[in-house]
Amino acid sequence: MALKKLCKCGKVIDYKQKYCEQCSIKHKQERAEYYRYYDKHIRDRQSATFYNSPEWIKTREYVLAKYKGLDLYAFFIERKIIYADTVHHIEELKEKWNRRLEISNLIPLSSSNHNKIHNMYEKDKEGTQRLLFSLLDRWNKEYEG
Ligand SMILES: [Zn+2]
Ligand SMILES: [Zn+2]
Repeated sequence: MALKKLCKCGKVIDYKQKYCEQCSIKHKQERAEYYRYYDKHIRDRQSATFYNSPEWIKTREYVLAKYKGLDLYAFFIERKIIYADTVHHIEELKEKWNRRLEISNLIPLSSSNHNKIHNMYEKDKEGTQRLLFSLLDRWNKEYEG
């Protein structure tokens, strides 16, 4: 007769098993959850450090000045003059860390349009990113060069 033991939940299991089937599924889910949380925590720390770095502060100022302080989404899409107080990463830090300081990846927005853009990302990220890149192009063609 095979040796048996008790799972932590009290079920009788084979001696070689660590958990019963149900507990093993639960254990795997908990581990996945933990790693998701851990990754996010590392990413958050990395981005907090980045947003306080002199390179970012300088780049952010440059972007605001280049577009005359305007929220480009308001300017081209809503045809309104609204001043920007955030500089958004079109390809986000978490997806393209190496583009974090590239002018061609940065767009100035007011905080309300910034929220709106992030909501639009939830629905259609690629489409929204294409739209934002096209706004930078329009500015460069129509107001510079
Ligand atoms: Zn169990
Ligand atoms: Zn953003």
